Amino acid sequence: MHFPKSRWGRTLLTALAAVLAFAGYVTASTWRTTGARASGERLQRMQASPQWGGALGESRFVDPLPRTQASMLSMTQKFFLDGSEFREPTTPVPVQARSAADFGTVDDDALRVTWLGHSTLIVELDGQRLLIDPVWSERVSPVTWAGPKRFYPPPLPFAQLPKVDAVLISHDHYDHLDCETVSALATTSGAPFFVPLGVGAHLESWGVPAERIVELDWWEEHGVGQLRLVATPARHFSGRSIIMADRDATLWSGWAMIGPHHRAFYSGDTAMFPGFAEIGERLGPFDVTMIESGAYDSMWRDVHLGPEQAVTAHRMVRGKHLLPVHWGLFDLALHGWTEPVERVLAAAEEQGVTVSTPKPGGQVDLSSGRRASRASEAIATQRWWPQLPWEDADTAPVVSSHLVGLAAL
Ligand SMILES: [Zn+2]
Repeated sequence: MHFPKSRWGRTLLTALAAVLAFAGYVTASTWRTTGARASGERLQRMQASPQWGGALGESRFVDPLPRTQASMLSMTQKFFLDGSEFREPTTPVPVQARSAADFGTVDDDALRVTWLGHSTLIVELDGQRLLIDPVWSERVSPVTWAGPKRFYPPPLPFAQLPKVDAVLISHDHYDHLDCETVSALATTSGAPFFVPLGVGAHLESWGVPAERIVELDWWEEHGVGQLRLVATPARHFSGRSIIMADRDATLWSGWAMIGPHHRAFYSGDTAMFPGFAEIGERLGPFDVTMIESGAYDSMWRDVHLGPEQAVTAHRMVRGKHLLPVHWGLFDLALHGWTEPVERVLAAAEEQGVTVSTPKPGGQVDLSSGRRASRASEAIATQRWWPQLPWEDADTAPVVSSHLVGLAAL
């Protein structure tokens, strides 16, 4: 082999070797967490979905509404030059510590939601315990050494997780689908996983047996106990590859959980779209909704709702009680960490919506028996977060595009 003789030549070669070694290391360490692509029968089923291909016949899932997004350059510029100074807490976040002892048997007419931070939820509904978008990892990232890191440890240690009857996943982004947590659940739990089309390929690659995966298209449903679990439409995107090789290769959804006594709705990640009204019409009204309210920006207004549209979505699905989620655990956008909840409360007051703001680990108990007797305790409304400056809806509006004709509620 011929080595360059000049100093510059050798430096260049060393730099190139270092870059290649780093790229190799990143590829190796992300190999497992990135997941797997669908093939065979799974892929055929995806290709037969009305959500596949769009008008241009592309080889991916396509949102019914066009997606307007700022360029990568302007987003990168804003990330480095702009953004709130209060994106992360500087003092410890108050957390309600939980253990398995806090979770007994689930009554046949129960409705209790435990918020474990961001979009990880335990929903106990009419006799069943459902675990939603479970994330116990330290970071939401393909690697353990970089990426958005938790503001506080999980309020319920994984070892204390009570028996769950089903695990619901909304889509394959790292802050919703956590390889380590799924791998652990594959062995510690026998519960079925409910996922949108294509996501099952990731699960199988992490050790979840195929017979434990219920993979659904929008509006499809499957029963657990006396519940109907329905995958609902959403306006978002998917992908886990750091080079975006698998962009929109799997479907995204929300979930409607329908029991004989209660109904709950989880939005997953989504922007505003008329589909919320149809969800409300076909599957509502919902006693409680858990709607994504954080990680928004006007630059990506067609993939996240933002606080004001979250309150509107709650009304569109005919929700009675709103629990804002997808905020307060990871720094995923440019807004202050308390801004989502401040803006939700302001919008809810304007629109006459009841909101619960439990601490991480806190519970909202809307079971029929408790609602009348201990309403104030059951519905957490305390302000447990610090008073920090935040931008309001007039200063930093987030309004999804292509909503002409969507009647304002
Ligand atoms: Zn997402």
